[in-house]
Order: sequence, then structure tokens, then C-alpha cells
Amino acid sequence: MTEITPFTLRVGRVLTSAFGDVLGPSEVRIGADGRIASLAPVSVDFLTADEAGALLIPGLADAHDHGRGLRTLAFGAADQSLETWLPDLGRQPRIDPWLNAVVALGRLARNGVTAVNHCHNTQDGRALLVEAEAVSRAARDVGISVAFAWPFFDRNPLVYGELSLLAARLPEERRAGVLAAAGGMRDCAINFALFDQAKAFEHEGFTLQYHPVAPQWTMPETLAAIARASAADGRKVHTHLLETELQREWAYAHHPQGFVAWLDELGLLSDRLTVAHAVWLDVEDIALLAERRVTVSVNVSSNMRLRSGFPQVGALLEAGVRVAFGLDGMALDDDEDMLRELRLVWHASARGKALGKGLDPRMILKGALEDGRRSIVGEDSGGRIAPGAPADLVLLDFAALSADYVMPDPDPVRLLLGRAQSRHVRRVFARGRIVAEKGICTGIDLAALEARLIEEARRYHAMSFSGADSITEMQDAIQNYYKCGCHLIGGVNRP
Ligand SMILES: [Zn+2]
Repeated sequence: MTEITPFTLRVGRVLTSAFGDVLGPSEVRIGADGRIASLAPVSVDFLTADEAGALLIPGLADAHDHGRGLRTLAFGAADQSLETWLPDLGRQPRIDPWLNAVVALGRLARNGVTAVNHCHNTQDGRALLVEAEAVSRAARDVGISVAFAWPFFDRNPLVYGELSLLAARLPEERRAGVLAAAGGMRDCAINFALFDQAKAFEHEGFTLQYHPVAPQWTMPETLAAIARASAADGRKVHTHLLETELQREWAYAHHPQGFVAWLDELGLLSDRLTVAHAVWLDVEDIALLAERRVTVSVNVSSNMRLRSGFPQVGALLEAGVRVAFGLDGMALDDDEDMLRELRLVWHASARGKALGKGLDPRMILKGALEDGRRSIVGEDSGGRIAPGAPADLVLLDFAALSADYVMPDPDPVRLLLGRAQSRHVRRVFARGRIVAEKGICTGIDLAALEARLIEEARRYHAMSFSGADSITEMQDAIQNYYKCGCHLIGGVNRP
């Protein structure tokens, strides 16, 4: 770790970890190594009013995202079913990859996120190495920890299944282009070679993970090669899994003996694996994920906006699966508010007989503080406030959160999950450095960069975009393809 100047924080309350104690007035000493050197009680008399009204919690983890500085709604990709939304992403103007990433990471840092899994969507598949370097720089500039999920995408470019059946649903002049789509994909060997080169971009806040984009988008041989590589070098693997009902139909048509069980046969399931979404799991899948200690990164806002369904958070937690949370670049209010996301998942998942009084909000905190973090940075004793832990910390305005509280001793966990929003975030530390203060990033001028990003995007759009009709035509063809059950052809359950 790069050395910092040691300092002391005094706060009225400390939530030491998801299931840890809530401490009263405390003094937290941060050492030169960016870790917590000591934590001790202090008399409230030594605290300023501001300090007394602050609650310190471990930094939040966004365990699945895509670095969308330019938000999808901004370039006309309307919220809809994932399968027709994907072609809409073609509307995205070409933008500087550093600018796109630095704005996305800056917004997350400002909102209390200190670690994020960045699943990279390439703007230009041939420029992946250049784009990865840009994200590495953005991570350094913002100062939070980024796991860069390196995309392995070598199958089913436009639909799950036969391209010829999609081509048949499009005008003659487009058919050759559709049939050629699979030819332009990076093959596994080339991708591994590029991945090796990208290791040069790693630094203390930027590490690479293998990212088979999803099993339906990655060749079985590539999935197996990634499983072998991860077992050999210990790197983490991150994949989308069974996000939509159509994906599940495709998966079970082709693997009727069990899709998650098939991934296990390939060697992919391990404690190094995180699967995003996993909305369409059955009971056996959940049991297997628990047994293999796989982390599931749940993305509730995204699943609502993309009509994917609702993840079985309660069932996952009851089965003992490690559950983390992600924004997926698709927060409900398009504001990257991780605190609100936690509330949404808590309330929406708390129903169910087995859960009795409801889902313990500390279970949600465990995902946001510990399990998500582990899936991004590994075991680093983070996600808690204790001597030796990395100083990834969020200082919240607890005075505002509890302003109307009637009883003398407000419960920080209930209030945190019950009503905290990004506007309550006062200061954010990552590896002992202040990365955001009162909504302002310290390493970058976020407002100026956002303005530049929007201006660049508008300029590009005005100059070059003419593809709206062809996107709509493709969406209609895709809709028709699935309606006819084409994704089931080739599997055992023919339509
Ligand atoms: Zn995603």
C-alpha cells in the first residue's frame, strides 16, 4: 500500500461490522499503511457537534456493475426486457473510455461505495486492452478498489441459439451481416493472451478477474478453460447467470439434467466464483451454489427495470448462499444510490413464512459490507472496523437520519436500512484516503467531467448516429425469434 499521513477520526457512533457491535463515542486511528491502527472509546466531551452526530460504517461494496458514466436512458435505451434492451445499447455514442469509467466510479465513491466489480462492456472489441488501461487509470484517479471483469464473449452474439433463424426474420440485405456476427468475436486463446498483457495495468486499486459474460454467451470450452485458469492462479471469476426467463428456457432445453450442475461439471463453481442476477434458480441450484460457496450478486433495481423477475434473496440466504448486491449501472432512480438499493432489496425480500418477523437487516448489511467486498478484493480483513482492517469507511450524517427519533437511543441498523440515502454520506475513505467529502470527489472534478461526457456524447450523436430504424427492426426480429421458441431448437425440448 502507498503510505499516507496517519490521522485520527472521532465519531459519535461506530457500526463495527454487519453483525458487530454499535459503539458509542469512539476514536479511530488510521495508520500510514491505510489500515485502522486502533479503535478506542472517547468521552463525548472531546467531540464536536458534527463528530457527535456522525455514524461510521465500513465502506459499501457494489458487487456487480458496468461503469456506465453515460447512463442508458441518456442515450435512448429505454427500460424493457433484457433481450430487446441489448440491441438498444447500440445507440450508445462512442465516448472516451476513461471519461465514461471515471464518472461512473466517481458517482459510486461519492455515494459510499469503496469497492466495485466492473464488468466491462467493450465499446470496440478490438480496443479492449486500451479500454482496460483507461479503467485502470480511472480507478487510480477516483481512489476506490475496482475488480475489472475481463469479458470472454465468444458465443450467441445476438440471440440464444441459431443465428440463421434470426437472419430469416430480417430483410434480405441484413442477413449476411447477422450470420457473420459470430465471426467477429474474440476467441478464447486471443482473449487469454490479451488478459495476460492487461495484468500490467493492475495496481493496489485495480485487479483483473475472469469474466465469462454468461454461460449462454461463452463457449463451453472457454468456460472450462477459465475454470482451469482460476484454479491454477487463484483469480476470481464473475459471470452473469440465469438473469431472465428466456435464458432459463434456453439453458434447460440444452441441459435438462441441470444447468448449474453442468457448470459444476465444467469445474466453474467454487468460492472464487460470483454469479450476478441468478434470478431463475431452482432449489437444487441454490443448494449447489451454497455447497460450493459461490457468491450470488443480486441486482434488484436492474431486474425490475429489465423485466427479469425477482431474485430469491430470502431462499438464498436461508440456504446459506453468500449474497452480495450490485447496482448493475441500473439503479432504480438512475442515481447509483447503493444505500437505497439495500433498502429495496431488504423490504422486497423480507416476506415469507420461514423468515418469521422478516429478514434481519443485518443479513443485507453482511452482503453489502462483507460478502460483496470479498468477491471484489478477496479476503483482506475488510468490511469491518477493527484494528488491522483496511480503512475503507463511510461517515454518515446520523443526526439527520435520527432527527425525529422519539426514544433516547436510536438504532443505527434500522435507520441505516430504513431510510439512509446517498445524501446522508458525509465523507468516504478508501485505503485510508478521503475519496469524497460532502458529495464532492477529492481526486477528480466530477461535475466538470460529467458535463464533458454529456457534451462529447451529444456531439458524437449529432455527427454519426443513424441506426435507430435498424435497431428497431432488430428488436422486432428478436422478439419474434423468442416468441416462436427458436431458442429451444437444438435442445431436447423442441418447441
Ligand atoms: Zn450486468
